Amino acid sequence: MSETENPAARRASMVERQIAARGIDDPQILGAFTKVPRERFVPDRLSDSAYEDGPLPIGEGQTISQPYIVARMIDIADIGPGDRVLEVGAGSGYAAAVISRIVAQVFAVERHEVLAREAKRRVAELGYTNCTVLAGDGMKGLCDHAPFDAILVAARCEEVPRPLKEQLAIGGRLVVPVGGEDMQQLRCIRRVGQDRWESEDITSVRFVPLVRGTVTSNEEKPGRDLSLPELIAESCTPLPEIDGPDFAAAFDRFADKRVVMLGESSHGTAEFYAARAVITRRLVERHGFSIIAVEADWPDAAAYNRYIRGEAAPEDPAPPFQRFPTWMWRNTVMPGFLKELRAINAGRNEDERVGFYGLDLYNMSGSIAAILSYLDAHDPEAAAVARERYGCLTPWQSDPAMYGRSAITTGFAQCEEAVVQQCRDLLERAVEEGGQSFSAAMNARLVASAEQYYRAMYYGGSESWNLRDSHMADTLEHLLEYRGSEAKAVVWAHNSHIGDARATEMGMTRGEHNIGQLARERWGDDAVALIGFGTHAGTVSAAHDWDGDRKTMRINPSREDSYERLCHDSDVPRFLLDLSRGTTVAERLSDPRLERFIGVIYRPETERWSHYTEAVLSRQFDAFCWFDETRALAPLEDHEPDRRGSDTYPFGI
Ligand code: SAH
Repeated sequence: MSETENPAARRASMVERQIAARGIDDPQILGAFTKVPRERFVPDRLSDSAYEDGPLPIGEGQTISQPYIVARMIDIADIGPGDRVLEVGAGSGYAAAVISRIVAQVFAVERHEVLAREAKRRVAELGYTNCTVLAGDGMKGLCDHAPFDAILVAARCEEVPRPLKEQLAIGGRLVVPVGGEDMQQLRCIRRVGQDRWESEDITSVRFVPLVRGTVTSNEEKPGRDLSLPELIAESCTPLPEIDGPDFAAAFDRFADKRVVMLGESSHGTAEFYAARAVITRRLVERHGFSIIAVEADWPDAAAYNRYIRGEAAPEDPAPPFQRFPTWMWRNTVMPGFLKELRAINAGRNEDERVGFYGLDLYNMSGSIAAILSYLDAHDPEAAAVARERYGCLTPWQSDPAMYGRSAITTGFAQCEEAVVQQCRDLLERAVEEGGQSFSAAMNARLVASAEQYYRAMYYGGSESWNLRDSHMADTLEHLLEYRGSEAKAVVWAHNSHIGDARATEMGMTRGEHNIGQLARERWGDDAVALIGFGTHAGTVSAAHDWDGDRKTMRINPSREDSYERLCHDSDVPRFLLDLSRGTTVAERLSDPRLERFIGVIYRPETERWSHYTEAVLSRQFDAFCWFDETRALAPLEDHEPDRRGSDTYPFGI
């Protein structure tokens, strides 16, 4: 085709050869393509190529789609004159412009502000007044303008964003490329009822990815020229003292999330516990969070749960949290926090009370004891069967780490089948009965997961880590289901569990996942807030070795090449830093850098190799909470006299 031919002739030829010749014969569609000048939607230097049979670059790494694929999607969406349509991924605005020539009203959303502005200008210049281009995250749809008769998505996704399905009118069609990077299926999803959708895969296609969040244009971004510490200082919300009235209010921005995960960069820092306590209390008191799920074992946390819900302690209760590292859940922050929760619960109906639950899987013997005591009281026959089944694990209950070795080296019958069967039985019971049997079922899940865990631990590698974090995510999922569809959860766990593993060496080189990543995958990035916590220097409660004594140790100041040092150099003593996608600070904190992880063991002498790992902070967390200087968490034992007995339960020592 000659480049000097006039655009209308080139356009007519495109419609004929690229669209009609491939079988699209709807006159409304062909007419619309004949009207819209594609050369106005590509960069000037490419206007000669505007009618070629393919996509073209439009800046920001994006493309204007091939005309035929736009026609095909419009054809599949089956749109007509009275319709209201949403396009996700406006890009150049071309597809939206074409659609606007067919329907009553089209809204198009584009995540790159620069592209959205250009697209808006083009449709305005062409006088297409029924076409509205907006900058925003199209994965959320456009609830202000819903429902739509059709939604077209110009970018691929692995999973169809739920809001888009929900913003369809009954009878409406959603056309979306679904699949991995190399190839996707163009899927047409039709809403056939309030809660019913039918879907059909039409053809293979290849699209750019749908990406969460928005991207503001560079020229509008302040802070491009600032150093990273200056930018952090500029972008963060400085926080008052933890016990000040406004500290927790800064976290209200996460109130609409389904799951808020609060991390910690050590298991022995007082500020992390105190801050999480006041934030959690606020989320529970004001924002409807009813689940507190922590990195602790189910049977131990159950004691705290009974206490805050005002339920009777079992007779002769064994004090919870007796295993190393005891200070994690027996420290001076917990009693006050649990008392506050108990007071909140006292004024609430049973089903509105907040619960305190354990996600972890170490206390196999505690779980077995809890299951047997539950069955003894409710179903002695089933208790006898359970005793028999768990008998297989008895030799290792006091040292389960030995189990993996025996299960493998001596050819000892593995207990897997028996514990899995027991777990199934109790889960079935929980579904039928609810209440206390739910707790028994969670204990049985713990035993089944722990059996696998200790067996996998013998081999080392990523499998045991993954089993543990899958168990935690599954427990959280069971809790959310158990507490009802509206239930919201706060999770307390180490940064290594809650910070998306895909953004650290764990996921990038070791094939490990964690509860933060699994939560984003299961409930969606928008429903989950992953909030990391960090510090520069001070003291920490930790041991030199596993099972060793707790000591108050001085933490080395953070390394110069770490994220912590950037935060320290901001000169803001306490802050909350929002790392939402598309913000300048998130973009500029997206190069891998060292980050410090202190667990219950701290080895300052070999700190670089024992505690630092590479991570990408802005992908790992949605926000980062900073305390420049921190103190060691005080264990309860040092403060409380020995007061064994049910009065002080669950804190009696
Ligand atoms: N319909 C466009 C095709 C653009 S390519 C045209 O005719 O020119 C897909 C576009 O989707 C890109 O511009 C990309 O930035 C945008 N995109 C990706 N994820 C998005 C999201 N979550 N919300 C809105 N737009 C998104």
